[in-house]
Amino acid sequence: MTDKAQTPERSLPVVQGGVEVPRALKPPVKPEALRHRNFRDDEFWKQIPAYREIDEATFLDHRWQAKKSITKPAKLLDAVQDLVSDAFIEDVKEGFAHAPMSVRVSPYMLSLIDWKDPYNDPIRRQFIPVGSSLLPDHPKLDLDSLHEQADAPTPGLTHRYPDKALFLALDTCPVYCRFCTRSYAVGIDTEEVEKVSLKANSQRWERAFAYIASRPELEDIVISGGDAYNLRAEHIAHIGNRLLEMPNIQRMRFASKGPAVMPQKLLTDDAWFSALAGVVERGRKLHKEVVLHTHFNHPNELTAISKRAMDRCFSAGITVRNQSVLQRGVNDCPDVMQLLIKRLSYVNVQAYYVYMHDLVKGVEELRTTLDDALEIEKQVRGLTAGFNTPTFVVDAPGGGGKRDAHSFEHYNRETGVSVFRSPNVCPDALYLYFDPIDRLSDAGKARWADPAEHDSIIEEAKQAARERLR
Ligand SMILES: *Cc1c(COP(=O)(O)O)cnc(C)c1O
Ligand code: SF4
Repeated sequence: MTDKAQTPERSLPVVQGGVEVPRALKPPVKPEALRHRNFRDDEFWKQIPAYREIDEATFLDHRWQAKKSITKPAKLLDAVQDLVSDAFIEDVKEGFAHAPMSVRVSPYMLSLIDWKDPYNDPIRRQFIPVGSSLLPDHPKLDLDSLHEQADAPTPGLTHRYPDKALFLALDTCPVYCRFCTRSYAVGIDTEEVEKVSLKANSQRWERAFAYIASRPELEDIVISGGDAYNLRAEHIAHIGNRLLEMPNIQRMRFASKGPAVMPQKLLTDDAWFSALAGVVERGRKLHKEVVLHTHFNHPNELTAISKRAMDRCFSAGITVRNQSVLQRGVNDCPDVMQLLIKRLSYVNVQAYYVYMHDLVKGVEELRTTLDDALEIEKQVRGLTAGFNTPTFVVDAPGGGGKRDAHSFEHYNRETGVSVFRSPNVCPDALYLYFDPIDRLSDAGKARWADPAEHDSIIEEAKQAARERLR
């Protein structure tokens, strides 16, 4: 019997190295399926007039990247004024006038923005506000929505979960993200926010170390800030060694956005890189895990420079994991999230978490609904290895900690209120997350428009959760 449906190509056996290649059951993949392997490798920075004469060696120099990082809105606009319209400039000025965050953008990030289409660019949206897209904040928003300060036995150390704690070693970052949860502490004061002081300060650190050593249940420390990139090499070694020497500490992670926004440092700041690699190495000898956690949000942030930086980490035995924030117009579509995860996996970075955007002032237009997260999660899981597949989490406002986005007790899609429990943090408490109001149905918007309704919206949601739990 002959198979009429067979195509001529399939009927000809392909022989490779003396072995017949088994016939495929799947159609050949399209080139798009492999586009995660294409890392941008041109001199992309030369699109910025001020960087036109900058050669590769200079662009790779971390000192140049740090020195040329832009911290004033006016300077930023100067750098791109020949690339964008006057209307866009005015719009950015308006955006900065309302921004509660400090500004800092690295030349690397600035050059990766597509200035021909700045409104839709995913990197522009993360760092540079425009007045025309600002939305009113959600009425349930407050600063430090994660209650990091309330769970802090000493300034800059949050002990919420049983066996792990968050150590905010300093208050500066290589860039400042518009959407930062820690805008209560990070960066210099802006007109909108007076910050809590968390400077790199050895006395404050000693108090944190004394607390950590005094709690035998603590095994795992997240060293964040601010950002570990801005710690000096000696500080990385000092903090790392102090913690490694504590018998109770078994794991630690240095958290830094740096690899995403300034991969150059991993390639050219040998002192810093060696300090980190040294702590990792010493940890390995002591059978303790030391890793680097970073924060890529969009596949465009991963260039050939990033690949070299991640390859250097991998060669030195430094495990890198990634935590993204789900943001509207940045990575809230399955296609982009899939590409991000595949590209991260390709450079041996494990996609660990995707966070629902916290309730942060002045960035409502970047938040998505929980429903969006649930759908994107489904589109992502099964794409690649499970250990490279992120868990989508809600960092529950009010200090509930991270909850699996799918684990809500109740979710009212009309009012956008979801209710979570967090038994390891507080067995009886209910924690609420709020979808952005502009994404709700007209009925949902109408209810939030009336302040007298707010308490009953919340009470209803809690009641529905309690009924389910009975
Ligand atoms: C995120 C976080 C941690 C670490 O949590 P993991 O789920 O292990 O990544 C620890 N403490 C606090 C306060 C945190 O917010
Ligand atoms: S790098 Fe991290 S801590 Fe710093 S501003 Fe961005 S999100 Fe906040």
